[in-house]
Amino acid sequence: MFEYAPAPESRDVVDIRPSYGLFINGEWADALGDAREKTINPASEEVLAEFAVASEADVDRAVSAARKAYDAVWGQMPGRERAKYLFRIARIIQERARELAVLESLDNGKPIRESRDVDLPLVAAHFFYYAGWADKLGYAGLGADPRPLGVAAQVIPWNFPLLMLAWKIAPALACGNTVVLKPAETTPLTALAFAEICRQADLPPGVVNIVTGAGETGQALVNHPDVNKVAFTGSTEVGRLIARSVAGSGKKLTLELGGKAANIVFDDAALDQAVEGIVNGIFFNQGHVCCAGSRLLVQESIEGELLDALKRRLSTLRMGDPLDKNTDIGAINSSAQLAKIKELSDAGESEGAARWSASCPIPEKGFWFPPTLFTGVAQSHRIAREEIFGPVLSVLTFRTPAEAVEKANNSPYGLSAGVWTEKGSRILWMADKLRAGVVWANTFNKFDPTSPFGGYKESGYGREGGRHGLEAYLDVRPM
Ligand code: NAD
Ligand code: MN
Repeated sequence: MFEYAPAPESRDVVDIRPSYGLFINGEWADALGDAREKTINPASEEVLAEFAVASEADVDRAVSAARKAYDAVWGQMPGRERAKYLFRIARIIQERARELAVLESLDNGKPIRESRDVDLPLVAAHFFYYAGWADKLGYAGLGADPRPLGVAAQVIPWNFPLLMLAWKIAPALACGNTVVLKPAETTPLTALAFAEICRQADLPPGVVNIVTGAGETGQALVNHPDVNKVAFTGSTEVGRLIARSVAGSGKKLTLELGGKAANIVFDDAALDQAVEGIVNGIFFNQGHVCCAGSRLLVQESIEGELLDALKRRLSTLRMGDPLDKNTDIGAINSSAQLAKIKELSDAGESEGAARWSASCPIPEKGFWFPPTLFTGVAQSHRIAREEIFGPVLSVLTFRTPAEAVEKANNSPYGLSAGVWTEKGSRILWMADKLRAGVVWANTFNKFDPTSPFGGYKESGYGREGGRHGLEAYLDVRPM
């Protein structure tokens, strides 16, 4: 057995200021009030920076800046001109990818291997992709001359901070809207770095505004009367509140909420590949993934063999310093999220499921949870129904394809699903019956800007990504 030597990525590439204001009308501005919050590195609990908490009045300043920029500049600009800015932003992101990846891993706790190889390439790809649409909106199948909506209010979560920003901002700008975006309170730093990138790209002032703060700031933003579009990604609970408050206001709304995806493995699947897909499905980003494959449905005849192979594989995962290039599992994003994962895992045990965790050393500081799986899970158990949003897999079994479909669809959510089988006909049969926005076949957690993403049922409505993602940011009322 060879030991791994430490392989830390250097922190020197990032320059974190001790304190941040709001980004309004292309300038850094102090918040009107004194309220401030801190963001920490969840792997060490070290304070990284302080940031302003935007009040209703601050949000109003940001929305007016966005309105002015929309009326005077961005809403009038030909698509081919808007595209130039988006291409420029995409290229700057690529140039600064290493810095942004380190910053993301510091603030969020995700392994550098993921922020470097998954998040950042996808962030740049989203801006490149939607830049290409900006002058072709008339060919998107949404009418000959689709119009922008106006000012978009966007609220995003902490699990993919910069990627969720890209999913929201790139299509909004490509379609001619201006934006006020609120990042999550535990991970504001890459959004604040993005504000700098907007300046670097000479984006006209007010086209992108970034306001920081927690739930109250988000509420003030989505409820602002001069906003035309609301886009939210986060918990189903908050999504419900937003849907209620936006109802009847005429604001266009898209919601991307939770999930409890089934990852279904048939007895004819290539087992080693399926094991990798299960690991990627639930342990990618510590399981802080709305489309995570958190319910493994395995055909009964191969349960023993598959679980042996899976446990062997999980025992090789390395948990620890997110900036170490050999790290597979980073830190849980916050103590609150860790408490939620512990609570649900304890409920799994008390309801009768059997817990197994990989035995990996837990660092002293920070928030950690080892890769864990539960067997003997019943469909009624909380760990089979509720989103844990952590590195915890619930294992259930099935005998027939029909039973697999029934169990997979037995969920209030419907964001994604995975199917592992050698038979193409079975993949198509299953994909047709699974009530999920995305169905992956013999793979999992694959993302691409050209591919639409979104949910059924309590996972939300509207699509992000691809040609479909344009519709959320355009006025497509029939003439
Ligand atoms: P959350 O929904 O509370 O937060 C998401 C974003 O919404 C944050 O920016 C937050 O500040 C903002 N927000 C909170 N309350 C708001 C309100 N009333 N109006 C407007 N904006 C508001 O999510 P959380 O508390 O960070 O996480 C709780 C659970 O949500 C997690 O355990 C997980 O199950 C789920 N979650 C899902 C996703 C996803 O990608 N679908 C992302 C994060 C969390
Ligand atoms: Mn943080």
